[in-house]
Amino acid sequence: MNLVRSNVAKMDGYTPGEQPRDRSYVKLNTNENPYPPSPAVFRAVHEFDPGRLRLYSEPLSLELRELAGAPFGLDRDWVLAGNGSDDLLTIALRTFVDQGGLCAYTHPSYSLYPVLVDLQGARHAAIELDEEFGLPADLVQQATGASLLIVCRPNAPTGNVFPLDTMHRVCAEFPGVVWIDEAYGDFAADSCLDFVRQYPNVVVSHTMSKSYSLAGLRLGFAFADPGLIAEMLKVKDSYNLDMMTQAVGAAALRDRDYMLANCQRVRATRDTLVATLDSLGFHTLPSQTNFILTRPPMAADRMFVALRERGYLVRYFRDPRIADRLRVSIGTDAEMAGFVQAVRAILAAETQA
Ligand code: PMP
Repeated sequence: MNLVRSNVAKMDGYTPGEQPRDRSYVKLNTNENPYPPSPAVFRAVHEFDPGRLRLYSEPLSLELRELAGAPFGLDRDWVLAGNGSDDLLTIALRTFVDQGGLCAYTHPSYSLYPVLVDLQGARHAAIELDEEFGLPADLVQQATGASLLIVCRPNAPTGNVFPLDTMHRVCAEFPGVVWIDEAYGDFAADSCLDFVRQYPNVVVSHTMSKSYSLAGLRLGFAFADPGLIAEMLKVKDSYNLDMMTQAVGAAALRDRDYMLANCQRVRATRDTLVATLDSLGFHTLPSQTNFILTRPPMAADRMFVALRERGYLVRYFRDPRIADRLRVSIGTDAEMAGFVQAVRAILAAETQA
């Protein structure tokens, strides 16, 4: 007798970026923010009374949803809070895709999407991005029959954005739900968040993991028409956010300026890094995120290993479309200076060999 559902038994599961324990690395592999969270977060943690943990957390995260919607002029019934945006994506699949139904997403993109489709026992429409990792002109046609289309903007792991007018066209023409994953949106020049007012079939998700330096807290938000939010509220775990996350997350949201200033620092470091790498013979895709996808002037897998030996962890994907590249998260200026030094040494050793 099979103990496990056949779709689960067949699948590999998601492989997260390494969180090494063996030695200390400069971690440029999981797009974490190099700066600490807001001082308001430190205070909120300090002031939290563990005695309260006896009780369940507030199930609807009302305060957090209100705070998350406020900067965009959206009331809390336009907002859903999740245990990270991965939780929100799970809720999306469970709300919008039937077992045996069809879910469309672009490729290459966030490698969790196909895993969630397998978990749901649904079918895939993986739609290839074009040569430059742009959206194909016939995206909506290729997604025909899907009830959910996931588009990541800025895209991961490529870092680029798709034009806003193209996004408008996709949202207007696709008959199902369009989920726009803006996990890196705070680093970008523009956003699709406003779309939710215009299109009742559009959901935009954000996370506090990257721009707010809170990957360990697990907190994300989805924004959409209250009709869609109400359906997703039925699907979420009753107490999907714990009490500490609610308290600490609220403190961070109240200090949005701190987050925006850090994004600006990260962008400046990124642009300097790209110029330096390109002068060393790398080819880097234009990035609007806190990471870059760059093609080194040697085999990417060997450079990945050589960087690791020198204490720098980056991300290498075996996916044939990007196997000649490395994804490098943006650290502090000092970390990136060290990274560039390691790169120079590796390239010098390569030319001698
Ligand atoms: N979307 C994208 C594109 C991501 O890269 C990530 C981070 N791995 C997530 C969503 C999920 O982030 P979190 O669950 O930490 O909010």
